[in-house]
Amino acid sequence: VAEALKVHTGTMERVTEFRAMQALSRAWHREGKRIAFVPTMGALHDGHAALLREGARRGDALVLSVFVNPTQFNRAEDYHAYPRRLERDLQVAEAAGVRCVFTPDAGQLYPPGHQTWITPGPLADRLCGPFRPGHFRGVCTAMSALFNAVQPDVAVFGEKQYQQLLIVRRMVKDLHIPVEIAAHPIVRDADGLALSSRNERLGPADRAAALTVPRGLEAARQLYLSGERRARALWSAVTRTIGAAPARPGGGPSIRLEYCHVCDPETLVDVDRVEGPTLIAVAAHAGSVRLIDNMILGR
Ligand code: AMP
Repeated sequence: VAEALKVHTGTMERVTEFRAMQALSRAWHREGKRIAFVPTMGALHDGHAALLREGARRGDALVLSVFVNPTQFNRAEDYHAYPRRLERDLQVAEAAGVRCVFTPDAGQLYPPGHQTWITPGPLADRLCGPFRPGHFRGVCTAMSALFNAVQPDVAVFGEKQYQQLLIVRRMVKDLHIPVEIAAHPIVRDADGLALSSRNERLGPADRAAALTVPRGLEAARQLYLSGERRARALWSAVTRTIGAAPARPGGGPSIRLEYCHVCDPETLVDVDRVEGPTLIAVAAHAGSVRLIDNMILGR
């Protein structure tokens, strides 16, 4: 990291104003540069670093945004509790070769009198939709504003938030936003848990419970590899594994399943049988942390 920092020292800019970001992007485009963009809420981990490497590969000028978007949180407490570590994020960004970190504040992204929203269609009603009303509307509204600031040629999203990736892809098609949406596979810790900025709020017992999520997905994958094609059987493998999590030290369940869907990876509609590529998506709560994870079979 120190070596990489040295190489990139002095080349990274931090921009907080929309107009300044637009001016920088216009200048880069005039120079013929291809702008790659990785939007995040900060508290960067190795998953974000992998997205940045993918962005660096796909463009000449790499932009990272760090914006904790208030309108995509369902509870004010979660918004306030979201980890914020900008100084460290700036170091990670610089080491990854980021040319510009865009850090608008909420008052800028939502200017005084703001009243225009982007409401996604049925894709947003599935999976997380019923449990997080308005979440994807907040995501789409903020993301379109960020796209208008950064004017990227390509934007890289993780498959961790698979539903978000699909909805953003649909949005840029529907609104003719000239950006290519690239996907990066989920990055996991050595124990299998998908990396998330929220994982730092998991105590050891919560983490042990959380691990049943990737194990459940893996159990379903093994069944699939052994020839099982009934969605119900794969669903059972996931939910039974999560249901068998060790009890909390004080007794009671240590993890609560919110949903498990075996569905079409394009429409998110549940399937009865695995006939082509199939998404298994899970959301669960361990301690105070909401976990999401997924796996695509047959692609
Ligand atoms: P966030 O963590 O909400 O700031 O997400 C910013 C971007 O990073 C999104 O495109 C996420 O899908 C992606 N991301 C977050 N965690 C992971 C992970 N473990 N693996 C791959 N991508 C991730």
